[in-house]
Amino acid sequence: MKKIATLTSGGDAPGMNAAVRAIIRGSKHFGIEVTAVRHGYKGLIDGSFENLQHTDVSGIIQRGGTILKSARSDEFRTEEGRKRAGDQLRKEGVEALIVIGGDGTFRGATLLSEEQGINTIGIPATIDNDLIGTDETIGYDTALNTAMEAIDKIRDTADAHERLFFIEVMGRDAGFIALETGIASGAEMIVLPEYLTSLSEIRESLNKVLKARKRSSLVVIAEGDQTGGAVKISEALKKDFEQYDMKVAILGHVQRGGNPTARDRVLATRLGFEAVQAIDQGKSDVMVGIINNNVTFTPLKDTFGKIKAINNDLVALAKILR
Ligand code: ATP
Repeated sequence: MKKIATLTSGGDAPGMNAAVRAIIRGSKHFGIEVTAVRHGYKGLIDGSFENLQHTDVSGIIQRGGTILKSARSDEFRTEEGRKRAGDQLRKEGVEALIVIGGDGTFRGATLLSEEQGINTIGIPATIDNDLIGTDETIGYDTALNTAMEAIDKIRDTADAHERLFFIEVMGRDAGFIALETGIASGAEMIVLPEYLTSLSEIRESLNKVLKARKRSSLVVIAEGDQTGGAVKISEALKKDFEQYDMKVAILGHVQRGGNPTARDRVLATRLGFEAVQAIDQGKSDVMVGIINNNVTFTPLKDTFGKIKAINNDLVALAKILR
């Protein structure tokens, strides 16, 4: 019987558990033995394997975080560390590894495959949605909804006091969360890393919005924006908007947690099952994704290192409607 291993790595994302569940149960369907690795690449280097059965993954589809735990491993960044990981997998009799994570996880997995000859299959899971080869990554939809609900609450207090809010959302160097939550919450302005937005542009736009006698104004800023983030932007504009009560809200790690949305649970379930099926069919070193509702396989090494295009139509729409 073929034996595979799976792990979650990097930043946790809601829906990782649903993917783990689908891998454990999907493996049984294909007659493949599966072992789970605790604590990502760190656990792999330490040989932290555990066989999980069908019932071990009961009741986890709705839970955020990851039951396998995640970790960052500096040792895995070294060739020596990856050799130790390869040795552990060979000792355990594992033929293929399914990694659930983001771009850093896939960079490491690509090296593991190249150097150690281990077949690695990637499942895209990061709230940032910054991986090429899938329309959406696991966790993105949940993070969007979490951020949107928080911004709705901020809007209530902003309205009550005629406040000007600068709200920073996650996404690292990608603006997907900022763009879609900005649209969904009716933000007066959205600042994205994909475009250089100057302070004078922000000043001018806000002046226009405030002149239109809006009761409150919300500026949604991606954490990786090129102007320097919500704190820097608000400080730089303080003098220009002295008459307003200016506030900064950094949503932070609340965006990583919570129960996954239905969409993330279904996405994770599909991708988990397809990853096992890909191994059963002899595929190697690919990331499983979904594009236009079709399952796709992209060489793992092509999923990172390039900028995933943001939807320019949505950017234009946000500007028209603000
Ligand atoms: P997220 O996008 O949510 O932060 P991620 O998978 O990108 O998730 P990282 O912390 O960047 O998270 O990467 C996870 C782990 O992958 C790292 O702790 C490290 O062990 C390994 N890794 C990252 N980059 C590399 C690299 N260039 N070479 C080897 N291993 C790497």
